[in-house]
Amino acid sequence: MARCRLCGSEAEHYLPYARLWICSRCFVERFFPNRIRRTVEAYKMLEGSEKVAVAVSGGKDSAALLHSLKEAFPTLRLIAIHLNLGIQGYSEEAQRSVEELCRSLNVELEVYDLKAEEGFTIGDFKATRYGRKLCAVCGVVKRRRLAKIAGRLGVDALATGHNLDDTVESLLAAFTGGDFQQLVRLKPVLPAQPPFPKKIKPFHRTPEREALLYAEILGLPFNRRRCPHVSGSRSLRGKSLLDLWEAEEPGFKYRLLAAFERLIPLLEPSVAQPEYTYCRVCGLPSSQPLCADCKRIEALKRVLNRGQN
Ligand code: SF4
Ligand code: ZN
Repeated sequence: MARCRLCGSEAEHYLPYARLWICSRCFVERFFPNRIRRTVEAYKMLEGSEKVAVAVSGGKDSAALLHSLKEAFPTLRLIAIHLNLGIQGYSEEAQRSVEELCRSLNVELEVYDLKAEEGFTIGDFKATRYGRKLCAVCGVVKRRRLAKIAGRLGVDALATGHNLDDTVESLLAAFTGGDFQQLVRLKPVLPAQPPFPKKIKPFHRTPEREALLYAEILGLPFNRRRCPHVSGSRSLRGKSLLDLWEAEEPGFKYRLLAAFERLIPLLEPSVAQPEYTYCRVCGLPSSQPLCADCKRIEALKRVLNRGQN
């Protein structure tokens, strides 16, 4: 019987990259929150922050993020933000899970219902020229609204549940696609762009399967349904390939992250970042005169108007 390296009791989990046997209790009470604390401190994520918004999708990552931030930083004031994307058979369950989670943690919750607020859902974009890459549209829609709501709430930072697997996959995709502008933007802390607050990724060094393990051991409510639009997404394929590599070579994802973190400061001075201006439609910070969000909404409106004629 394997013993937990931290307390000596029976171990239930093995983390190959660390060659560590650990029991459930030490994993949720010590190992997991300690890594978040160290990540937050290493990247100075919460410096000068008292009030932090946490984007909660209803999935395992954000459930684990909200819970572990509360554990690791008990004096921090947290506000959860949930976007209901109006995806049938998925969004209802996601919102229910978030409401249950926030109730149990006694965390204030702000819900933004896309259909009720703006009259469209993510699925409506299928009819536009962006419809073949629905996850990319969804990413823009979510990013923009989360930042906007967080700005309105006057928080010092917006935390998202992007984990190690998300980051390494995005870094690799940007690198192999030669998109160095995007590569140098994939940092765990992005400075504020008023009215948008600073963005932070406390799970930068947390593997996805450990966020799931944390949520499962603690029985956190989260949405187990898969979004019907996820199949075929590029990031999912990339993550599966990285999982194969990790299984062959434990620690591979961490090594890749470390290599990129050494590369980015070298690349940064030679990669010009776009000048920020303000979108002529919504008035919010944008690298283009018409922001990516407004551009997609205009395309959607054109399709919807055609349907009404
Ligand atoms: Fe949005 Fe794609 Fe995630 Fe579905 S799978 S919620 S469409 S990003
Ligand atoms: Zn805009």
